[in-house]
Amino acid sequence: MTNKITILAGDGIGPEVTEWGLKVLQYIGERFGCDFVFDQGLIGHCAIEATGDPLPTETLVKCQSSKAVLLGAVGHPSYDYDPSKTIRPEQGLLRIRKALGLYTNIRPIKIFDELIGASSLKPEILKGADILFFRELTGGIYFGERGISPDQLRAYDTMEYNRFEIERITERAFEAAMKRNKKLHSVDKANVLDTSRLWRDVVQEMSKKYPEVEVIHMYVDNAAMQLIRDPRQFDVVLTANMFGDILTDEASQISGSLGMLPSASVGKEVGLFEPIHGSAPDITGQNIANPLATILSSALLLDIAFDMKDEADCIIKAVDDVLKDGFRTRDIADSTTPKSMIIGTDEIGTEVMQALEVRLNQAVVI
Ligand code: NAD
Repeated sequence: MTNKITILAGDGIGPEVTEWGLKVLQYIGERFGCDFVFDQGLIGHCAIEATGDPLPTETLVKCQSSKAVLLGAVGHPSYDYDPSKTIRPEQGLLRIRKALGLYTNIRPIKIFDELIGASSLKPEILKGADILFFRELTGGIYFGERGISPDQLRAYDTMEYNRFEIERITERAFEAAMKRNKKLHSVDKANVLDTSRLWRDVVQEMSKKYPEVEVIHMYVDNAAMQLIRDPRQFDVVLTANMFGDILTDEASQISGSLGMLPSASVGKEVGLFEPIHGSAPDITGQNIANPLATILSSALLLDIAFDMKDEADCIIKAVDDVLKDGFRTRDIADSTTPKSMIIGTDEIGTEVMQALEVRLNQAVVI
């Protein structure tokens, strides 16, 4: 079994936040003699600049020979308002997901108690919310046939799903529901879309194998509303690619900030772990990005790719310790946070490393 972890820092704040995800992995590796081997690769805008390709073959080969990949973010503002650009950073992300067969994106959404005031939602609505999202990642409208007419008067994107694509992620979601509160919301748009009718059919069929799991089918527009009306009604949420993309950004408010949410993408052998936020060009290079989502992604990486659950829990608790001590990056500060406690990317990263060391020295692993 390889112990190789490839770091794809990417664009914008990607390098600033992955630096801390990497430091945490290196530290855990050294402490527990894991012999992790680290490699690095280019993806996104930085890869286009260097090679003309948002996912150079060299990067893909490195990832294919790894056990896990830690990714920062891709994206650059120079592409945002220029539809004529046919080579784009985000293509690197879509292609790596497809090439590594990462069909399931897992996004745990919960709030650290200390951050309840940082969310735009009321504390009484948030307290106790704990959702596990399963977003399909290699199918649907982001991968369907698309085009734009030469006169730019018509454009189309198509949404397509095969039964097997729905089955394999549905099985993972049911298995997770069995280990949690045995409740699964399948989110679709079956009143309008054929792909959603197929989706609903598959989920219904597979639910027979899991009679203990309560299955609730919900339309995506209703789910968007219910998520912020009463997030505690959800346990496991299963949904298609684009719906999951949008809903999990919305759900980031349940955790206080986009800067707090990790994710895992799994499928075949290699797992890819990344914060759910983008490259945040508006705050790049200012040492104000929140690295905690990336640090928590490193915890997910250890848990899922290396089965190091205790070590992963220790990282999560170290993050909690730092928040309990009152430290905040700007995005998770609220009106009650003293100015002196609002610190930068590197400072909060250093605090987490220190908290991790203290926890491990005390052997308070669980
Ligand atoms: P974004 O997630 O980059 O930023 C949205 C807002 O959240 C911004 O105000 C940003 O400053 C803030 N934010 C994001 N991450 C933060 C962090 N760690 N700490 C503090 N604040 C944070 O989304 P966007 O602005 O819509 O997109 C910017 C670029 O990122 C685009 O090019 C987009 O295509 C790309 N993108 C990439 C990914 C990815 O790599 N997985 C995901 C989403 C968007």
